Amino acid sequence: MTDLGLTLSLVDSPLWRICNPTPVYRNPYWPTWPLIQITQGCTHNSCKFCTMYRDAPFRMQPMEWLEEDLRELQASDPHAKTIQLLSANPLALSYDRLMPRLELIRKYLPELEHMYAATRVDDIRNKTVEQLHNLKEIGVNEISLGVESGDDWTLQRINKGYTSQDILEQCRKLDEAGIAYWMTFLNGVAGREHSHEHAVNSAKIFNQCKPMLVGTGGLTLFPGTPLLEEAQHGEFTPLDERELMQELHTFLSAARLRLRIEHSPHLVAPSQRSIPPPQTADSRRIAGGHRPCRHRCHDPPPTA
Ligand code: SF4
Repeated sequence: MTDLGLTLSLVDSPLWRICNPTPVYRNPYWPTWPLIQITQGCTHNSCKFCTMYRDAPFRMQPMEWLEEDLRELQASDPHAKTIQLLSANPLALSYDRLMPRLELIRKYLPELEHMYAATRVDDIRNKTVEQLHNLKEIGVNEISLGVESGDDWTLQRINKGYTSQDILEQCRKLDEAGIAYWMTFLNGVAGREHSHEHAVNSAKIFNQCKPMLVGTGGLTLFPGTPLLEEAQHGEFTPLDERELMQELHTFLSAARLRLRIEHSPHLVAPSQRSIPPPQTADSRRIAGGHRPCRHRCHDPPPTA
């Protein structure tokens, strides 16, 4: 996510959007587990193809908000075994900020076994293997990394904010800690000019990692993205359908992974699909309409 933009579905609920200043995305391959927000927005927020959190500055959810949500979740789903942590990259929090939040979640949901999260590759950087192992022990045993490419030219071109060496180093730490991870390959993101290198070099990097699953989606140029502007100025040439398939074929031919490929459309636009509303305490409260919105939409960011 994670930069998981390419494989996430926007949970689209008018009430949710009115009351909540930050959009909520859910991985379409994960069931509709309860969602619990521990951060808002994305720390990076500048990948050239992404508008997911453009209007949602990153901020940490204060502990009292989290506790309030947990009390409701406990009341409605006291035996919850799995939840998904929000938002774009909750693992961006330092270990010392993250762990108390996860412990609080476990306190309210003692039967919890899995806390899934999307996150960025560089969110792992500030955590030791031992700390990652502790995160796994408390329930963060599977995460999704929106890697997008293993080709350094492409990563720089799309302003991903890390290099192929970072991918290798951080994935090795996850392997050592025993945290399973998904990786994404963003089909078409290098444009026609660099398609072959994007495919081949991504396969080389992915081959050196041990993802439990590789997901791929075809690039969509969304309004408001720098990549669309570049395309309009002739500085980026999108692939057509045939070229997308050719690039994917090149990637798969070079990949030596035991993997299951999931190919999805680039699902980040406001969706008209009948996706179930989010099952957080927040959404129930909003949907129920019997309590005031407590998202503090107009509050200044907390300083804690
Ligand atoms: S890391 Fe990039 S793709 Fe993911 S949410 Fe942030 S800006 Fe979007």
